[in-house]
Amino acid sequence: MRLPLALPPRDLRPFDAVGFGLNSLDLMTVVAEHPRPNSKQRIQRFSRQPGGQAANAMAACARLGWRARYVGKFGADDHGALCRQSLIGEGVDVSASAVVDGATNQFAVILVDARSGDRTIMWDRHPGLAMSGADVPIDAVTSGRVLLVDCHETEASTVAARAARAAGVPTIIDVERVRPGIADLLGAIDVIVTSEEFPSALTGRPLGEALPAMAAEFRAAVVCATLGAEGSLAWCGGREIRTPAFRVPVIDTTGAGDVFRGGFIAGWLACQDGADLEEVLAYANATAALKCRALGARDGIPTAGEVAALLAQG
Ligand code: ADP
Repeated sequence: MRLPLALPPRDLRPFDAVGFGLNSLDLMTVVAEHPRPNSKQRIQRFSRQPGGQAANAMAACARLGWRARYVGKFGADDHGALCRQSLIGEGVDVSASAVVDGATNQFAVILVDARSGDRTIMWDRHPGLAMSGADVPIDAVTSGRVLLVDCHETEASTVAARAARAAGVPTIIDVERVRPGIADLLGAIDVIVTSEEFPSALTGRPLGEALPAMAAEFRAAVVCATLGAEGSLAWCGGREIRTPAFRVPVIDTTGAGDVFRGGFIAGWLACQDGADLEEVLAYANATAALKCRALGARDGIPTAGEVAALLAQG
């Protein structure tokens, strides 16, 4: 099935993909089992990993060979410097992202159960990192051929998505939670990519009915839910598309959803004349599966060659 959306030509934009939203430092803590209250245990493995939804998706686009830009806010602490430098190291442009004096960077303590891979996430975000609609750098969010937003700051993401649409740039969202302003935001989005739970939480219907209901209500070309080891379920043009996950040895699924969106964008950009949605979804699932081979959101992100090899294996 053809993806019924056109991308602006490459030469007219300085970037292929722009991501507007969160970055975070993930303090990955692997333990033998999830702790009980008042218990003690030795940590099996600890590492500081740059993460955050929009930042991870742009890191994936860059690793896959596309010109990517991240737009958001960094704290002025060492966590912020690490997150900023990690994106620069991936070749992601951060020139339109502010470093906020007096603010600590967003961070998360992520407990990973070594046996099951289950994750528990505790996070903090300094109020100085908040973005209002007036803070959105319009030139930057319209400088790509696709804009990805996340759903943490709904008002700012709505301003960014509307500006992109007005500039002829298609929009894609990473949405996982029902928040005030979410309906306005979804109304400005062409490709809605959600967590498994969000469509039912929003509509009160089972997943299979919720996707077409969302497509109709928000006039989105595609609505897609990621289903972990079950792959993804999408709705487009009156049809359901179920795409299986790729079987890979899984070490950690942190950031798999973010990298799925990056892979979706990269797969879409790779289609020269009109994108085939089934192919784009297979590309996104393959990219996300390969991410799961390493601890943390970014280390496992594949190159375009690695994705092509996995797709060729089937
Ligand atoms: P999130 O990271 O947002 O919780 P999911 O768990 O749905 O998102 O994972 C996103 C995508 O990552 C899935 O659609 C799938 O392509 C891939 N993925 C996740 N877990 C696995 C797994 N165990 N095996 C293969 N692919 C996986």
